[in-house]
Amino acid sequence: MAQSQPYYEPTANECLLFEQAFKNKLPLLLKGPTGCGKTRFVSHMAHQIGVPLHTVSCHDDLSASDLTGRYLLKGGDTVWTDGPLTKAVREGGICYLDEVVEARKDVAVVLHPLTDDRRLLPLERTGELLEAPDDFMLVVSYNPGYQNMMKSLKPSTRQRFIAAEFDFPDAQTETRIVATESGLDPDRTMGLVRLARKLRDMKGQDLEEGVSTRLLVYCATLIQAGLGYDEAIRHAMIEPLTDEYDVKQGLEEVVRVSF
Ligand code: ADP
Repeated sequence: MAQSQPYYEPTANECLLFEQAFKNKLPLLLKGPTGCGKTRFVSHMAHQIGVPLHTVSCHDDLSASDLTGRYLLKGGDTVWTDGPLTKAVREGGICYLDEVVEARKDVAVVLHPLTDDRRLLPLERTGELLEAPDDFMLVVSYNPGYQNMMKSLKPSTRQRFIAAEFDFPDAQTETRIVATESGLDPDRTMGLVRLARKLRDMKGQDLEEGVSTRLLVYCATLIQAGLGYDEAIRHAMIEPLTDEYDVKQGLEEVVRVSF
C-alpha cells in the first residue's frame, strides 16, 4: 500500500523553493533550531515529488566512507557495500544529511564535486566516477544556534547550496501543527503554544535552546493521554531544556504566572 504523505504545515514559500531546487538540480541547505520541522519538511517533499529519501543523521564520528561505502567481509570475500550517499547517487532520490556540521571534515571533500554543476561522486576505493542522475538532490541541515566556531560550515562548502532559514512558526500555525500531531483540542493547544512562546523568550538569558515544536507536540500528547498539565509541562517543556536548578525555577515561575 502506498504510504500517505507525511503531514507538513508550510510556513512560507519553502515547498515551492524545494520543488524548484529539485527541478533545477540545486543542492539545498536548511538552517534552523532543532525540532522546528526541517526533517518533516524533507520527508514531505520527497513524498510529494515521488522520489526515495535517504536520510543520514550526522554525528562527530561520521566519516566520508560512512556516506560513500566500504569493503566489508562477507563469507570470506571482501564485497563493496554502498553507503547511503552512493546509493542515492546510483538510484536517484533525495539524500538528506541532518546536522551536517557534526560530521568529520572529510565529508566536505565528497560533497564538493557533487554540489558543482558536474554532480560527480568519485569513489576512490572502487575506481568509479558516478554521475548523479537528474532526480538526485542533496539536502543538508544544521542548527546555527548552538554551533561553536569550530563547527560552523566553511564558506567554501556553504556557498555551494541555496539556503533557507527555518524558525518556529507563528502561534496559529504552530497550534494547528501541535493539535494535528497530538490530537489535543485547539483551545488547550493554543494555551500551550502561548506558554512555549513565553519560555522561548528566555532563550539567550539562561537557555541555549527554546522549547521546540517537537517538545510542544510531546507535551500535548501527554495531556491528551490524560497526564495533568503540571506534570506534562515539567516533563516535556522544562526538564528537557536544562539541568540547572535555578533555570528550572525560572521556567516554572513563567509557567505559574501563565496558567
Ligand atoms: P528538525 O528536523 O527541525 O529537528 P522535525 O522535522 O523532526 O525537526 O520536527 C519535529 C516535530 O515537530 C515533527 O515530528 C512534527 O511533529 C512537528 N513539526 C514541526 N514543524 C512542523 C510542520 N511545519 N508541519 C508538521 N509538523 C511539524
